[in-house]
Amino acid sequence: MATPSSLESLIEALRCLPGVGPKSAQRMAYHLMQHDRTGAERLSGALQLALDALRHCQRCNTLTEAEICDRCQSTRRDASLLCVVETPVDMNMMEQTHAYSGLYYVLMGRVSPLDGIGPRELHLDRLLARSCDGVVREVIIATNYTNEGEATAHYLSEMLKSRGVSVSRIARGVPVGGELEYVDAGTLAQALRERRPLAP
Ligand code: ZN
Repeated sequence: MATPSSLESLIEALRCLPGVGPKSAQRMAYHLMQHDRTGAERLSGALQLALDALRHCQRCNTLTEAEICDRCQSTRRDASLLCVVETPVDMNMMEQTHAYSGLYYVLMGRVSPLDGIGPRELHLDRLLARSCDGVVREVIIATNYTNEGEATAHYLSEMLKSRGVSVSRIARGVPVGGELEYVDAGTLAQALRERRPLAP
């Protein structure tokens, strides 16, 4: 028996999710239609609601329901510091440290030539304009320490330095509670290179 065309297109649509191949898309579709039609309705409603409500913050580019997000509107944050992260999840991680009170710019991706994502696709001109607005004193690059995150950091720092913006990069090092014996050699080497003098 052929798969009904509406089921086919549901399976096809589910494949847009990261890490979902044809098999799991099929499993999800059958599960929703066979065992959880209420869940399917909730999912469909929530998707539509999010699509209608969410947009990018005009200042930091994260997802928000307002023109400018709450964080960017806050007067209690240090507007002279701008931290660049890859995703909103990374921004939340930075917030959880309680060690940073500046503002953010969310790239919503990373430079990845293999996937056809270059500076233009990331709208880096908006980040550049923001960094040169006269209020920002330092841009802290907090992209991931992956090949693509590193390439992005390199590109950003070159772009910003050429405009006279002061740029820094979050350091790599030994994890909190980590014992040297269990740290990989690359991390240890980096921690050594990025050592700093102890306060007297
Ligand atoms: Zn914002």
